[in-house]
Order: sequence, then structure tokens, then C-alpha cells
Amino acid sequence: MKLLSIKNESVVYRSKTKNVLAVNNVSFDIDKQDSVGIVGESGSGKSTLALALLKLLPKNADVTGEVLFEDKDLLKLSTDEFNDLRWKEISIVFQKSMNSLSPIHRIGSQMADIYTIHDGSADSDEVKGKIINLLEMVNLPTRVYTMYPHELSGGMMQRVSIALSLMHNPKLIIMDEATTALDVITQGQILNEIAELEKKLKIARIMISHDMSVVANTCRKIAVMYAGYLVEFGLVEDVILNPKHPYTKGLLKSFPPLKGEKGELRSIPGYLPDLSIPHEGCIFKDRCPQKENICLYTAPKTHIVENGRKVMCNFAGGDC
Ligand code: ATP
Ligand code: MG
Repeated sequence: MKLLSIKNESVVYRSKTKNVLAVNNVSFDIDKQDSVGIVGESGSGKSTLALALLKLLPKNADVTGEVLFEDKDLLKLSTDEFNDLRWKEISIVFQKSMNSLSPIHRIGSQMADIYTIHDGSADSDEVKGKIINLLEMVNLPTRVYTMYPHELSGGMMQRVSIALSLMHNPKLIIMDEATTALDVITQGQILNEIAELEKKLKIARIMISHDMSVVANTCRKIAVMYAGYLVEFGLVEDVILNPKHPYTKGLLKSFPPLKGEKGELRSIPGYLPDLSIPHEGCIFKDRCPQKENICLYTAPKTHIVENGRKVMCNFAGGDC
């Protein structure tokens, strides 16, 4: 069952001197309880895409397209309607979500304040019980309730952020590099906990990460972005074992493989194009090892291949 449907989403950041086309006509769906990882190098538009879903972009960003969440178009909701939906239906965890907490108030009282913004009817004992329960759910000791933000380690902070995001039982949680800054062991523990919580609470997840292996290990589907475009989308096993877009192939070679022999890691030569300059042909042509003449002048369509998989390449119909 479909939960979220992103249709032809584009985002332009406008300024006096230039317009940056950060997300370009992106479409994909997320089912209930599904998990989609978004990967792509820095500046490819991952965060912009996610922030647009939650109306969290700055004022100079123009968003077009449709974002249907259970058939409501999120882009058309009023600010009040949207505020009602955020946290209760969709929540987000950033790399530094905890920075928004006050350093001079205890974690428990701040969590309680945030809770009551969206549910003013709950009495204080009920709210405290709920928060202690949430802390336990993310494997934090109860004493965190009376601690101050500066007393927590990085891993504990991200667990508090995750607890906050789960507070009102959302149907979708978005994690934008939420575990990137943590050491590998803590990251692994938190990712395992999230996977278990998701099953228990029946939540869908969008996971933004630079790290292919994080997405491959924790998501069912993968969306590969390049310079604002969705260049490949599909089931993790299909995309990882048999990448079809040359960019996905390059990206996979720049990470250690999950299984089998560890070959030499190679980064993709070249840089992302300047997103404020209109381009002709394929957006990846300057870096593509498989480009042909057609790629210089013809913008590739998104081909739908097996298992609902999408590939935006001029050769996606054959062996690209
Ligand atoms: P990273 O992996 O580094 O987080 P990302 O894939 O999340 O990168 P975005 O942050 O979405 O990429 O940025 C996409 C493009 O939009 C980049 O070219 C960036 O410079 C530009 N951009 C982002 N925020 C703004 C803004 N507020 N004003 C103008 N341009 C912006
Ligand atoms: Mg980002």
C-alpha cells in the first residue's frame, strides 16, 4: 500500500545572481512500512528533496510538483495543516538535531514541552511515562530524563533525537545522515535498533546517507541521485548486484563491497556540474565512461525496467 508518492518534484534555490536547480523532476513512491535509502555525492540534492517534503526549505526555494501523503498533497497544505501533520505523521532526524535543544534545561522537561505542543490534553504524569518509555525504546537509561544535553555522548544524543521523532507515532521517519558522525560500532547498534523499532511500530523510513553500505544493510529500496536527478531507483538487491546506471556503477566501486573480494576502491573522476547553468544532453555525460554521441545532445528519459526499477540513461533499455 502506497504511503507517499513524490511526483515530478523540482526545487530551485533563487538568488539575485543565479538560480540553482537542486532537485530536477524527481518521482518515486514509498509504500507503508517500506524503507528507501537516498544516496549520491555531496550536493546532489538529497537533503533538498527531503526538506521539501516537510516544508522546511528556506524562503528562496521554489518547489513544484506533487507530494501525495495518503492522498493529501503536502505542497498544498496550509502552514497550520502542515504543522499538525509534522511529527504526528512524518518526522525527521538530522545529523545534529540535538542542536535545537536548549543547553540549560534537562532532557526530560524539554521532551515534555515538545510533546505537549502537539498533544496539550495529556497530563504531566502521562507525558513523563510516555517519555521514559521512549527513552527505554531507544536503549537509553532512565537517568537521561534528568540530564542536560552537554552530559550526553554523540550516540546518546542521536538516540534522544530518534526518541523525539517517534514521540507521536509517525507513519514515516526521515533520517538525514542521522548516524554519520558516530563511530562505526555505535552507528551499527543504532541502525539495528531502528530496524527493530520500525518493525514493531510499523513505520516507513527514508534514509539519506553518503554510505552505500548503510543503505544496503538497512533499506529495502535505494534511490540514487546525481546533480538533482534521480538516476536509478529500485530494490537494493537489484541495484547493488546489477547496477544499470553508469553513475551507480561508479558509486559502488568507490565503496568497499558488502560481500566477496575487496577490490581497489576508485572514486569517480570529475565533479558535479554547476547546477545554476542549463545543460544539454545527459547530466552525467562529462564523467560517464560509457557516453556516446547521443548523450551529448539527448537528455535521457527515465526507463522503467524490471521490478518497478527506474533508470535514467539513454542505454537503459539495453545493456547500459
Ligand atoms: P550533502 O551530501 O553534502 O548533504 P546533498 O545531496 O544533501 O549534499 P543539498 O544540500 O540538497 O545536497 O544541495 C543541493 C544543491 O543545492 C547544492 O548545489 C547546494 O549548493 C544547493 N543549495 C542547498 N541549500 C541551498 C540554499 N539554501 N540556497 C542556495 N543553494 C542551496
Ligand atoms: Mg545533505
